[in-house]
Amino acid sequence: MKQGRISIVGAGPGDPELITVKAMRCIQNADVILYDRLVNEELLGYGRDEALRIYCGKAPGQHSMPQEQTEKLMIRYAAAGNHVVRLKGGDPLVFGRGGEEALTAAAAGIPYEIVPGLTSAIGAAASSGIPLTHRGIAASFAFVTGSRCNEDGAPVRWDALAHSVDTLVIYMGVSRLSEIREQLLHHGKDPMTPAALIENGTTSRERTVTGTLGNIDKLAAAMKIVNPALIIIGESVKVREQLLSLERAARSQIG
Ligand code: SAH
Repeated sequence: MKQGRISIVGAGPGDPELITVKAMRCIQNADVILYDRLVNEELLGYGRDEALRIYCGKAPGQHSMPQEQTEKLMIRYAAAGNHVVRLKGGDPLVFGRGGEEALTAAAAGIPYEIVPGLTSAIGAAASSGIPLTHRGIAASFAFVTGSRCNEDGAPVRWDALAHSVDTLVIYMGVSRLSEIREQLLHHGKDPMTPAALIENGTTSRERTVTGTLGNIDKLAAAMKIVNPALIIIGESVKVREQLLSLERAARSQIG
């Protein structure tokens, strides 16, 4: 029997062209593709016709395949000699539970690899013109979860994050935006700190809203920003506004 194996693969942030060559090769080679909600479905078209494609994701608030069942399927298909590709949005190790899946594969004695992907924070920051670091403005950034699913673990240190990191990028935070804003203000972050929301980053449906920490929750509500979206808080959000105004000025000179 052919030796089965597992590839835990990042599909990139949304734009299907932002997948890596290595991840694409995994898709082309797979016998079974277990994919999540945030994976651009166009990518599944690159799999072999006979490859099994199994959806393991969930829409927010809806019934989903539990993580244990996904891992069981992954092990069962690989133990039967298949190349299983566990395809996940962004990077598999950034809020993606890829570490847990690697532990499960290792415990089952099945060969596995982890193929990195462009995480949505990097992708969305680039496509909206917000540098995560910028000379003289931002020398550090942090990727933070805004989700309740973190509550059974150590709580997020908003007190430390409010002061020790220049650019904060918050995943899974839109539904808790008011709470996150309150936490940062409570710990003394300036309400005039620039802030942005990026919805569906890197896709043709991308929307970006900018404001300040003080008003970002009202802007989000007014613009009806929904998941998947990221919150970026920090002075370098201003660079997007500079880029837009320079582009406008250049266009009006040409025009
Ligand atoms: N492993 C993924 C993150 C999974 S957590 C990665 O590396 O990107 C899911 C969260 O990612 C969403 O709630 C949202 O905050 C963010 N996200 C994923 N894709 C996104 C996109 N195209 N635009 C904006 N945010 C996105």
